[in-house]
Amino acid sequence: MLGEGILKGLAETAKNFFGSYVSKERLTTVQYPEERIPTVENARVFPFLVYDGPDWEAGLRCVSCQICEKECPPKCIFIEKSKDKKPDFVGKMQFYPVRFDIDTSVCMSCQICVEVCPFDAIRMNTGFELATGDRFGGLLLDRKHLAHSNEYYHSIHPTEAAEVDARRAEEKAAAEAKAKAAAEAAAAKAAAAPAAAPAPTKQPAEGGS
Ligand code: SF4
Ligand code: SF4
Repeated sequence: MLGEGILKGLAETAKNFFGSYVSKERLTTVQYPEERIPTVENARVFPFLVYDGPDWEAGLRCVSCQICEKECPPKCIFIEKSKDKKPDFVGKMQFYPVRFDIDTSVCMSCQICVEVCPFDAIRMNTGFELATGDRFGGLLLDRKHLAHSNEYYHSIHPTEAAEVDARRAEEKAAAEAKAKAAAEAAAAKAAAAPAAAPAPTKQPAEGGS
């Protein structure tokens, strides 16, 4: 029937409106900001940078590979790579971002930066109260504003963060086992080297005429 969908929608609205006077279940709104609906785990607003340990700057997971910068559809990520390197969580020397900005006035919360990051360094935040009177500078978030601890990540996306931690622990254990095996192989080779190649003995000099 023509308009059946509209009538069904209006009936549902009326049921909730009148029902909300007698049943809390039908009350679909809250008195924000005094009351707040808990944020669901898969909510996403703008990205943030994850760091490990107590120091946000030293612990940033980002290695400045710039994949997210290239893949971001509206090009709202700006990264400047460091000249030097520091060890990552498996001990591999990596660059780090001396500048990492996201223009949240342009970001469309698509999460592509998260999907393409090979280092679990960028994740979607759930905080939405970001209104500011400064339309330009206030919405350009730098790496200090973007940085949040792994504990914070666990507090907003507990299931996902636990999976990431488990995978990273496996990767770290595998890297440590590989490094240990390589060190043992190098030590064994060094120990075997003198036996395999004895020092040449000095030949007696031949007499001249
Ligand atoms: S969420 Fe999308 S638009 Fe926003 S920074 Fe990431 S890739 Fe760019
Ligand atoms: S956030 Fe991830 S993808 Fe983006 S530069 Fe850092 S490591 Fe690379």
